[in-house]
Amino acid sequence: MDAASFKKYGYQIIDWLAEYQENAGQYPVMSRAEPGSIYHQIPAGPPLESESMDQILDDFQNIIIPGITHWNHPRFFAYFPCNNSGPSILAELLSAGLGINAMLWLTSPAATELEERMMEWLRHLLGLPEEYKGTIQDTASSAVICALICARERLTAFGINRYGFQGAALPGPLRIYASAEAHSSVEKGVKIAGFGAENLVKIPSDPAYAMDPALLEQQIRQDRDRGMLPCAVVATVGTTSSTALDPLPEIIRLAREFNLWVHVDAALAGSAALLPEKRWLLEGAGQADSIVFNPHKWLFINFDCSAFFVRHPEILVKSLTILPEYLKTGHDDHVINYRDWGIPLGRRFRALKIWFVLRHYGVNKIQEMLRTHLALAQEFAGWVDESPDFERLAPVPVNTICFRYNPAKMAGPPYSGNELEDLNKAILDRINRDGTIFLTHTRLGTVYCLRMSIGQTNTHREHVRQAWESIRQAAANLSSSRRHRDE
Ligand SMILES: *Cc1c(COP(=O)(O)O)cnc(C)c1O
Repeated sequence: MDAASFKKYGYQIIDWLAEYQENAGQYPVMSRAEPGSIYHQIPAGPPLESESMDQILDDFQNIIIPGITHWNHPRFFAYFPCNNSGPSILAELLSAGLGINAMLWLTSPAATELEERMMEWLRHLLGLPEEYKGTIQDTASSAVICALICARERLTAFGINRYGFQGAALPGPLRIYASAEAHSSVEKGVKIAGFGAENLVKIPSDPAYAMDPALLEQQIRQDRDRGMLPCAVVATVGTTSSTALDPLPEIIRLAREFNLWVHVDAALAGSAALLPEKRWLLEGAGQADSIVFNPHKWLFINFDCSAFFVRHPEILVKSLTILPEYLKTGHDDHVINYRDWGIPLGRRFRALKIWFVLRHYGVNKIQEMLRTHLALAQEFAGWVDESPDFERLAPVPVNTICFRYNPAKMAGPPYSGNELEDLNKAILDRINRDGTIFLTHTRLGTVYCLRMSIGQTNTHREHVRQAWESIRQAAANLSSSRRHRDE
């Protein structure tokens, strides 16, 4: 591509993106594509000869866009936010343009040193102590694998790295603890790091869906008495279903007593701790061994960017280090080589977008945007609480509300649990097909709930209000058609 075409299409794409950011709200939030519908529009093989950029961009518009679910839509309330911003997109473009691989300090000193600084900025914003050293990972899923490997190696004096689980002659299996509400990435990490899913013990949660530390202690003692080796506990600050908060101080006290590694998974809720009034969310995290949070969720930085901090970087590096001859450099004693801080060797230049975003907005503005989301979540929770036809199913410490339609609250029990579940599933289906908003569900205990997660960059009060209206409308229509059917 020559410079003239690059500019021509580059400007066109920037124009398109500017428009998109302003007007994403005009699309149906969730893609209406049928399975296979995109696949079958793409030829079975690549073209042998050049195609024009105009044609490619047309196809982008006509084939790809209909298959996009708009995460940056102001009425995207599903899963969790994966928000974005102008400065983040621009930094990502520059990073792509430079096309570097930041595996070693030498392979781009600026990428490594900016990453070091950005991790210090984020550490400071979260109020974590200075011993913590950070690195950017692709996802929280990779971070928990690294944390579990550190835990494993610390407990076995680097024996598993050396001999594997088969040869390490351990007196019993290594055990990992997490709450029943912990993210599925913990189980995946336990499998990948070789512990075996049977050695992940899911500790039951309390009525607020947080880990019950008394049950954790009981389980650790019981395992120890049976000759097993308690190894690590993953504490979640902001569970995926309901943003429940495991009690960090108690968990850390137990971990000290039983010599466990504590990994804090604050993937979503960590961003809220940038607010002085929400600092308490991470109370105790300073004494943990590792912590992860995802700027790519709720810090206006596009996917992917996960901030992973460890209090003993030497354990991480010793666990993951490799040094083939071709990667040795003359600076290895004085610089950080982030290749040893995570799983892949090759690394993208992600620090640039953190730098752009934090500087473009400034901390005050970012805090203001987070505060707005938190206030909207409280307001929505209030509407649910005040409505005779809906009930809230979990506390709302951050941005997510679990609730369901339950008109029985008002007028005796016309609906059984199963009927309520069917009704709520039907409400969700109707809302999402309509395309005005996108909402997802979860299950707390056995109860099926609707789940509203607020955190898109351009979500304002009017959008949350519209969501509440759509939900109420869908519920009212469905329950009246059901009553007619039953009569
Ligand atoms: C989103 C989330 C994860 C997974 O994050 P990835 O970066 O996609 O791996 C893990 N834990 C919690 C609590 C989350 O909210």
